[in-house]
Amino acid sequence: MSILVLGGAGYIGSHTALELVRRGESVVIADNLSTGHIEAVPKGAKFYEGDLHDRTFLDGIFENESIDAIIHFAAYSLVGESVTNPLKYYDNNLCGTKVLLDSMVGHKIGNIVFSSTAATYGEPENIPILETDRTLPTNPYGETKLAMEKMFYWAAKAHGFRYVSLRYFNACGADKSGEIGEAHSPESHLIPLILQVPNGQREAISIFGTDYDTPDGTCIRDYIHVTDLANAHILAVKYLRDGNKSDVFNLGNGVGYSVREVIEVARKVTGHPIPAVESPRRAGDPARLVASSEKAREVLGWDPTHDSLEEIIADAWNWHKNHPNGFKK
Ligand code: UDP
Repeated sequence: MSILVLGGAGYIGSHTALELVRRGESVVIADNLSTGHIEAVPKGAKFYEGDLHDRTFLDGIFENESIDAIIHFAAYSLVGESVTNPLKYYDNNLCGTKVLLDSMVGHKIGNIVFSSTAATYGEPENIPILETDRTLPTNPYGETKLAMEKMFYWAAKAHGFRYVSLRYFNACGADKSGEIGEAHSPESHLIPLILQVPNGQREAISIFGTDYDTPDGTCIRDYIHVTDLANAHILAVKYLRDGNKSDVFNLGNGVGYSVREVIEVARKVTGHPIPAVESPRRAGDPARLVASSEKAREVLGWDPTHDSLEEIIADAWNWHKNHPNGFKK
């Protein structure tokens, strides 16, 4: 049987597809290449180019391939863009996923793992954040992901499939091979932006807000290596294939780093002074987001091993210094 990876040419999708191929799984990737890169599709995976909204396209894959599990990454994920263009997010993340569910139910596919986010929580009630904590998103991106989770909940109940929703904290790093890594355009994430400075593409990094209620005044996040995230998806597929119930899991290291601390570690890793400029807060940024991932550890047996920030930034740097323009030649 094969695993269908939707959005498998994107950042987390391609790292997951690569790990699956390495473990000898039969992998089918579908991606519309709107933000993904054909170069990121691992050798050994079968590739279909097409869109989530296209029922005929999806039906064709289910008819041609023997798929028993889906991993669904095909979503937009930029918080700022979701605020200025919310309907783009509802259209893709919710309407596109609805078409996928129709096709999946029509072909009696029983297992699906999909990307959710820490943004479903909004401003957290407690740190570390538990899966049972209040979900009150503060932007359309988080809203569409929470609505997706609810759509899966009710559709699974009605149609008898099972799902795992994975709420990622801050995905970062790159595969140790240095062959694939993060390549967003435009880039908005902290670590790749920091690394543009030693790469000669940016004069300085802006620190968005220095007056938060945190020890050094800057935001605290839980940075998790993309390979550890990839492994969590593989464990979640196994969990579903073993017949376990639908559930939701946080994925983070449970350790928070401030923006200043991340910059400091990047200076150490790259040997570059990386000037920083204190700037105003970015709208919608909670002061702290740190996961409790106890549930994923206990239930899925997940054990994130690339958990030092130094290792994460070293792997990211290994990718970015050799691919300053991402996958573009
Ligand atoms: N950030 C920053 N400067 C930048 C980009 C991000 O200070 O140029 C901060 C941002 O405000 C947040 C943290 O870095 O506190 C992580 O932001 P990112 O966009 O990487 O991920 P998010 O937490 O928004 O998912």
